[in-house]
Amino acid sequence: MTIDLENLTIKKAHEALVHGDFTAVELAEAYLKEIKKKNGELNAYLEVFADVLEQAGEADKRIHAGQADILTGIPMAIKDNILIKGRIASSASKMLENYVATYDATVIEKLKARGVVFLGRTNMDEFAMGGSTENSAYGITRNPHDPTCVPGGSSGGSATAVGGNLCLAALGSDTGGSIRQPSAFCGAVGLKPTYGSVSRYGVMAMASSLDQIGPIAKNIEDAEIIYNAIRGWDRYDSTSYDLPELPASTKSFGEAKKLRIGVPESFLNQGGIDEVVINNFRETLKKLEQAGCEIKTIEMPNLHYSLACYYITVFSEVSANMARFDGVRYGAHVEGKDLLEDYMKTRGEKLGREVRRRIMLGTYVLSAGYYDAYYNKATEVRELIRRDYAKAFEEVDVVATPVAPSPAYPIGKNTSDPLQMYLEDIFTVPINMAGVPGMSVPTGKTDKGLPLAIQIVAPWRRDDILFTLGTIIETCQA
Ligand code: GLN
Repeated sequence: MTIDLENLTIKKAHEALVHGDFTAVELAEAYLKEIKKKNGELNAYLEVFADVLEQAGEADKRIHAGQADILTGIPMAIKDNILIKGRIASSASKMLENYVATYDATVIEKLKARGVVFLGRTNMDEFAMGGSTENSAYGITRNPHDPTCVPGGSSGGSATAVGGNLCLAALGSDTGGSIRQPSAFCGAVGLKPTYGSVSRYGVMAMASSLDQIGPIAKNIEDAEIIYNAIRGWDRYDSTSYDLPELPASTKSFGEAKKLRIGVPESFLNQGGIDEVVINNFRETLKKLEQAGCEIKTIEMPNLHYSLACYYITVFSEVSANMARFDGVRYGAHVEGKDLLEDYMKTRGEKLGREVRRRIMLGTYVLSAGYYDAYYNKATEVRELIRRDYAKAFEEVDVVATPVAPSPAYPIGKNTSDPLQMYLEDIFTVPINMAGVPGMSVPTGKTDKGLPLAIQIVAPWRRDDILFTLGTIIETCQA
């Protein structure tokens, strides 16, 4: 039998599984076949798990027993920095090439309980540092819509897997855009949840005050299903919290009242945005206006500090978090003549250039003479950014910008210019700095067939508004 993977969603797959149109094993087989056909070129997966069909068999038992959950038997891909007990988790680094996770991340535990089938682990920028998946120690990943282009990053493998129909949905992590931007480049929906709404236990820390796990999915409804499955307070993450009942998304806001959408025009002007992106953004706003939303220009005067603040914060936290990779406790070990040389050789040989660059810059900005001038300053300005959002949300329900200044760009374009690579994050990083939720929603394609997207941002803990507006955007596209 052939299953139409292109048009499949979690909801449709669930219905088909429950009605017996196909089994979880057949569904898993269809994906494995697709992966076999395409992964050689795309390199979305670093590993496809050997026991996929066994997992699917277990799901079938559950379905036959009438105990199917909406996620039972749904094939998902997992970014390589999220731990699944007994499986390798390498963060696409040589440092953790053979590291086997000793426990399940909380999000994995939750998905396992629902009967999700894990297809494999996906490629990424090493330790999530990057925006194109070109910083992986295991080769680049290619964009499923144009293999000469990057898929975005750092969750590029997960986004390619979703956009290329190599899984039904995926998990990524987002520190400064790593779910939203690759989702935008690959034509998927990507949610960076409110900071703390999803447990970080079991995701490898990059910058702990910014990291969040979130879904990459084919549509808004699927993203919401996964978000609801993974969110919640966790005793192993003290920054996590429970939101017992999210206001029932799609119905609560959109129908009840006009959504007010704020556009920080003067910030957009500084982004160096491609014409095709800005035109598509304006068209999307126009459609939303026709759908009954109100579009307002708003002032967010501190947003243009976000990029500088973000990178100082990230480098600092990276330098602290990466200290654990010393060749003794985890992963690779390279023998030197004494302990110091062990450290230097292990870290020098097993960590890639971008990771080493960030450790060095972070150590520098945290050093005695510079701490106040850089790290403390960035922390202060971060508060201003947070207040910009708080103030904006007194006036509007959602803030909208493009996700990135351009659609997916050719492989290699920015690899020799790290600063240019960082500048691509201009629209995504403020959201992490403020801890608010942000979502990337597809809004069509360029003439060349590359996906375009809009980024919508809601107040702290109001992820539900994103699902509501996301659904309106989706409807406007149809
Ligand atoms: N591109 C950003 C960076 O390199 C974001 C990475 C991320 O969100 N993990 O830091």
